[in-house]
Amino acid sequence: MTYHTHSLLGFVTAVITVKILNFLNIIDLSYLIEGSLFSPSLWQFYGGAIIGALMPDIDHASSKAGRALWFISKPLKIFGVKHRGITHSILGLVLFFFLTGEMVKAGWINELIWYGLVIGYLSHLIADMLNVHGIPLFYPNNKRFKFNTNITTGSWGEHLLFLLTFTIITLFISSERGLLNFSFNDFLTLIGFK
Ligand SMILES: [Zn+2]
Repeated sequence: MTYHTHSLLGFVTAVITVKILNFLNIIDLSYLIEGSLFSPSLWQFYGGAIIGALMPDIDHASSKAGRALWFISKPLKIFGVKHRGITHSILGLVLFFFLTGEMVKAGWINELIWYGLVIGYLSHLIADMLNVHGIPLFYPNNKRFKFNTNITTGSWGEHLLFLLTFTIITLFISSERGLLNFSFNDFLTLIGFK
């Protein structure tokens, strides 16, 4: 998938995560939310997710992450790390979790960005399972896992997925911000059912 789709899906996954955690009262996000799902402080979490969603493709020197972090992607290539290999597995996710955790300890990023990065990374793995090639989820075991979909990079299927996700998240943000006063009853009235 292209980086646009990955970043969008990373953002959406982060929004859904906040919504679920808040709904289940698992984490008290009230101090973050300040009455809105889109408060400025939460954007650090979302920003982390948007960037984290690009990170697994660091195993590909010409990807967005690979080009930006060439000093990581080039050595990976020299050491024989294949595209959609270790970075696209649970092991890769765990390593990413600890490596970025070190960045928190070093004071480079805060915890909110850290959680975002990890959620974004996870969203990339799920998204790549929609791809025809699948991913080696339990690397070093090379068995590849995929959903029953055959989306290839840059295909119409991917564009459709992007458009659908973009539309849904735009409507969701609009209604969350009170910009959209859509109700099912209004809809019924509109089509003449009421
Ligand atoms: Zn990938």
